Amino acid sequence: MTAVIMNGKEVAMNIRKVLAEEIAATGVSPLLAIVQVGDNPASQIYVRNKHKAAAEIGMKCRICYVPETDDEENLRNLLLDLNDNDDVNGIIVQLPLPQNFDELKILSWIKYIKDVDGFSPTNAGLLQMNSPEAVVAATPQGVLALLKHYLSDLRGKHAVIIGRSNIVGRPLADLLLNQDCTVTVTHSKTVNLPDICRQADILIAACGCPKMVKADWVKKGACVVDVGINRVDGHLVGDVDFDEVKEVASYISPVPGGVGPMTVAMLLKNTWNAYKKQHPLV
Ligand code: NDP
Repeated sequence: MTAVIMNGKEVAMNIRKVLAEEIAATGVSPLLAIVQVGDNPASQIYVRNKHKAAAEIGMKCRICYVPETDDEENLRNLLLDLNDNDDVNGIIVQLPLPQNFDELKILSWIKYIKDVDGFSPTNAGLLQMNSPEAVVAATPQGVLALLKHYLSDLRGKHAVIIGRSNIVGRPLADLLLNQDCTVTVTHSKTVNLPDICRQADILIAACGCPKMVKADWVKKGACVVDVGINRVDGHLVGDVDFDEVKEVASYISPVPGGVGPMTVAMLLKNTWNAYKKQHPLV
């Protein structure tokens, strides 16, 4: 058995095409503000890619650089200004933040209807309560869109998630629970992780451990989604040993070309939805 490759690049391109058409048809130009604190080189690449992706679908992007040496008060004032600025439709703070900044506190300063990353405590809470008002974090939303594209029904499936971070594992658990999956969340202290993974109909790896998930961790015919992005010897690899696991799974997402492009597409979708909420007649 060789698994069907879950082509996130292609699915994401189609989503971006639809967004571009919708935006062009309305003749408006939504504005996404990206706040980058410090000069982490990986963050700079991610910010550049988001800027480019936004421009390609007719969205404007404003990048606000904040020096690492700045204090939280200045960052708070910037976020409050962006909250109050009617021209700005979506706001994201590129993570990770330098150590001297309190991530949770800072994310809570973004007005929840402009929080297009969905990381604010308000949006996390709305998602947990299965509210349609929740802005869902882009990566978990991208994983769900990929699953829905390839699987006919998620109801009752046992989903095992490796990782419990606030930006991937936890919101993904809420999202899949809201889809009537039975969800198990695992982490670095989980005992007998391979045994638990073998029970999964849907196995999602989001732990940042290169090629950790091996073929003998996977139930025959399972669907395996790899969120991990790890740089090893100059190459990008996921948390799943792709070459081994594709011989056991029925579906598998590659790295690169799987969840990564879906994440960017979902950020753009969240920004467009935020614009429409702020301008209900569009
Ligand atoms: P974090 O480091 O914030 O969280 C990692 C999680 O994995 C933690 O819950 C940790 O457990 C768990 N974990 C770590 N090691 C193990 C292990 N050996 N066994 C079981 N669980 C383990 O990472 P993120 O959630 O931010 O990101 C996870 C991965 O996804 C990274 O590779 C990141 O680059 C990638 N990523 C990809 C995105 C995309 O668009 N494709 C977007 C965001 C992230 P504990 O809580 O106990 O510490």
